[in-house]
Amino acid sequence: MELISLGSRGDFMSENLNWCYEQRCRKTVKSLQHNGFEAVYCVNKEEAYKDIIGEARNADSIGLGGSMTLEELQLMPELTAMGKELLRRDLPGLTPDEQEAMRHRQLACDLFLTSTNAVTLAGQLVNVDGIGNRVGAMTFGPKKVLVVVGRNKIAEDLHAALKRIKAIAAPANARRLNKNLPCAIAGFCSDCNSPERICRATVILDHMPSRSNIKIIMVNEEMGY
Ligand code: SF4
Repeated sequence: MELISLGSRGDFMSENLNWCYEQRCRKTVKSLQHNGFEAVYCVNKEEAYKDIIGEARNADSIGLGGSMTLEELQLMPELTAMGKELLRRDLPGLTPDEQEAMRHRQLACDLFLTSTNAVTLAGQLVNVDGIGNRVGAMTFGPKKVLVVVGRNKIAEDLHAALKRIKAIAAPANARRLNKNLPCAIAGFCSDCNSPERICRATVILDHMPSRSNIKIIMVNEEMGY
């Protein structure tokens, strides 16, 4: 009997897993295209990075939604070197008024970069927002929106998407943002009524909104949460 070393068995397993995820990503891309979005498949983060930088060449002002997926891509050095005007509300030293002004300016930028809380196999983008500026900019305003999505955010259907947001995305984000929320402490949603509640606007983009230009970059790697 041929013995398989642990290393090659690991490679074999991850190869199969990657293939499985690739099919899910490609099906999602097709569904998104069917729903009127521009959508592309990227085999990894490096490919996604190149695509984003290519899109950024045509933009003067670039808005960035708070996103761990974008953080992982480490786009800032290159975008800064390209001389782009970066609209970020998390720049150090901004006053609350300046942060608010930045949120407004993002609504009218050339290119808005963000991720999504979930995407369904049927090609719907599902997001839950606290303020609403992120979902606002995704829906109307910027000349173009790029949504970068890791394979871990694909959900079977709307029900699974909303479940994933409350089970993973919201508690993890609440903790990242250091919010005084029950989910940031327990790790589970208790449908709180806290003043700091981050789940206030649930927005589902079934089809691309008629006056928007949204491109989804579907990456066959785990990204963000
Ligand atoms: S509803 Fe409240 S407890 Fe539940 S995930 Fe949202 S912020 Fe956390």
